[in-house]
Amino acid sequence: MNKKIAVIKGDGIGPEIVNEAEKVLNKVGEKYGHTFEYTDVLMGGCAIDATGVPLPQETIDICLASDSVLLGAVGGPKWDTLPGNLRPEAGLLGIRGAMKLFANIRPAKLIPALAGACPLKDEITKNGLDLVIVRELIGGAYFGERDTHVDENGVKHASDSMAYADYEVERICRVAFDMARKRGKKVHSVDKANVLDSSRLWREVAHKVAEEYPDVEFQDILVDNTAMQLVHNPAQFDVMVTENLFGDILSDEASMITGSLGMIPSASLGEGSLGLYEPIHGSAPDIAGQNKANPLATILSVAMMLRYSFDMSKEADSIEDAVDKVLADGYRTGDIMSEGMKCVSCSEMGDLVADRI
Ligand code: NAD
Repeated sequence: MNKKIAVIKGDGIGPEIVNEAEKVLNKVGEKYGHTFEYTDVLMGGCAIDATGVPLPQETIDICLASDSVLLGAVGGPKWDTLPGNLRPEAGLLGIRGAMKLFANIRPAKLIPALAGACPLKDEITKNGLDLVIVRELIGGAYFGERDTHVDENGVKHASDSMAYADYEVERICRVAFDMARKRGKKVHSVDKANVLDSSRLWREVAHKVAEEYPDVEFQDILVDNTAMQLVHNPAQFDVMVTENLFGDILSDEASMITGSLGMIPSASLGEGSLGLYEPIHGSAPDIAGQNKANPLATILSVAMMLRYSFDMSKEADSIEDAVDKVLADGYRTGDIMSEGMKCVSCSEMGDLVADRI
């Protein structure tokens, strides 16, 4: 197969980590007979420097005409004082909107070789941790009506409304159920239906969608209980689906349980197969250009791209297995280094993974 990938290397460590992900993808292409064609496009600080805006129209056009988009990271101190709409992060929100990416998929998996980095007690993680959070990305409180005003008594008020339409809940629930079918066949729908109207609608729609997936075990769970259960018995979860704000918080909690920022990939998906794949960490300006960054989150992001955009499961498995092997063989970048392990650079880590494909 021939696939066109728009590549946003971005700022800071972005170019270094993306180069390693391309190295691994090329090896997958060689082994399984695929061609991956990359088109570099600008976004973030580098786009501001070159064009004056964080997200040039040309970038949007090329991303929309591609089969998938790979993103490193954007931002850095050089652009921190610019007004909000001209900052690198505005590019990030802009591209998600332009590509109509309503589902954010974030896996949290405890890699056995890195179990020591997990802050939970062994007795809690002894059954493992391998879950995926499916977060609604373009609705809820982050996109609802908002208001800040001072009333006639001089009291200042601010409000954000958490609004959802039934079709928005339905489409994200379908993403979760389809994903569960390819994994452990279990979905938890997270809400606050004991208090919020938007959650009661969420629950009603989630139940309707669940009826279409009798092969998938389904359960509602309140968000406060979910936060507790994640640190009490994380092995009970397979796929968790939730609205934007709850998902933002729960996905950070779940990431923390796995131990390291440099290890966690993510995917943002819309209606079709076009997706945006990126590590969850930022541009790490403190180590940029030093060949020290951990490229594994970006490498695992291209594994997600193969699985979700290109329907290439065995190719995706080959990357995930290669990463597991490199770690089991004792290789670590600085951020995940521990006693007795072998410390390697960003490019060496890419080579080690590519060698094991
Ligand atoms: P960060 O994730 O860039 O860095 C936090 C810490 O983790 C730093 O010490 C960094 O060196 C380390 N780190 C992060 N990724 C690493 C990796 N792959 N390997 C080794 N160490 C790694 O977060 P920050 O410092 O808060 O933000 C830096 C810049 O990144 C800011 O401009 C921020 O706005 C931007 N940012 C971008 C994205 C994105 O592009 N999606 C996400 C978050 C932050």
